[in-house]
Amino acid sequence: MARYTGASCRLCRRENLKMFLKGDRCYSDKCAFERRSFAPGQHGQNRFRKVSDYAVQLREKQKVKQMYGMLEAQFRRYFERAERAKGVTGETLLIMLERRLDNVLYRSGFASSRDQARQMVRHNLFTLNGKKVNIPSHQVNAGDIIALKEKYQKSEQVIDNLEGAVRRGLPSWLELDQAKFHCAVKALPNREEITMPIQEQLIVELYSK
Ligand code: SF4
Repeated sequence: MARYTGASCRLCRRENLKMFLKGDRCYSDKCAFERRSFAPGQHGQNRFRKVSDYAVQLREKQKVKQMYGMLEAQFRRYFERAERAKGVTGETLLIMLERRLDNVLYRSGFASSRDQARQMVRHNLFTLNGKKVNIPSHQVNAGDIIALKEKYQKSEQVIDNLEGAVRRGLPSWLELDQAKFHCAVKALPNREEITMPIQEQLIVELYSK
């Protein structure tokens, strides 16, 4: 699956939001957003110009798309599926994004970013309910168990990632067994548990034009 390969920190500065795209760096004083919290480019420091409703909606969509590491076509397909599903479209969209396996590995701390999680899944580091899984977009279900394969359990990177995540706290819908390198999906996430500042209604308005 194609993905954005440009400078991640520029995306945070563009959206005026720490999106935690680069793993450990995001929690350190090397974070570019902490050092220069204005948009990149010549006119980046001019945040007070008037913007249209369309521009606000577009930026919200770009922000969420970048947060979850997607390109336009794939994101649009998620929206279309959310629109066809029962429930409030914007909320359904966010919950579908949260249910992606790469996101779950990031949220549970096995990976320090969704990008790293995608790579780990593609390289077959995990099992899902005891079976092989190598599709980062796989939608997890309540009751699923994701486990790091035994031969990777000595990875210092994973151990460090897990310790960092436990210190920062996990979402309540996931249960991590750090000693066994297991994560259980206790329930599907609900909207309140997605704490990043997202106004999903703006995305719905944009795509409904
Ligand atoms: Fe964003 Fe992380 Fe870069 Fe900071 S270090 S600007 S949070 S991607």
